[in-house]
Amino acid sequence: MSQSNDCIFCKIVKGEIPSTKIFEDDDVLAFMDIFPVTEGHCLLIPKKHYVNLFDVDLDLLAKVSKKLAELARKVNRAFSPDGVLTAAANGPGAGQEVPHLHFHVIPRNEGAEFGFHFPESYRDSMAPREELERIAKTIRES
Ligand code: AMP
Ligand code: ZN
Repeated sequence: MSQSNDCIFCKIVKGEIPSTKIFEDDDVLAFMDIFPVTEGHCLLIPKKHYVNLFDVDLDLLAKVSKKLAELARKVNRAFSPDGVLTAAANGPGAGQEVPHLHFHVIPRNEGAEFGFHFPESYRDSMAPREELERIAKTIRES
């Protein structure tokens, strides 16, 4: 199944609900986010339905990644912000609301309210090397 019937982004791909497109090809669609955090906030999706990075076909992801860089460069040229944030939430715990893989591309200027927010105290103490080794091993072997 390449599309999911009750998925809002699949409906956009099929033209069943409106979107403002930036570019598309056989594999991907770039379109404007309907609730932009800043001017130029847009989304890049594979046309085929995958939930997130945990299930997407890796050859398709390679194509999507190339297009993500193209879209980020276009947004950067169009608005000359201080930076361009590219982000994908994988799973509800990471903030994913729409369960169809998507990358946000968001122009961001310094001091903007949104962005990656770490607790103020997170640099108070470095992680012990042995702990980093143990955690890296867990990831490596999973
Ligand atoms: P996330 O929280 O990462 O799942 O983000 C989903 C994004 O999709 C949000 O930024 C929404 O504003 C955006 N969104 C939801 N519905 C639409 C739509 N119909 N057209 C464009 N963007 C949408
Ligand atoms: Zn979908």
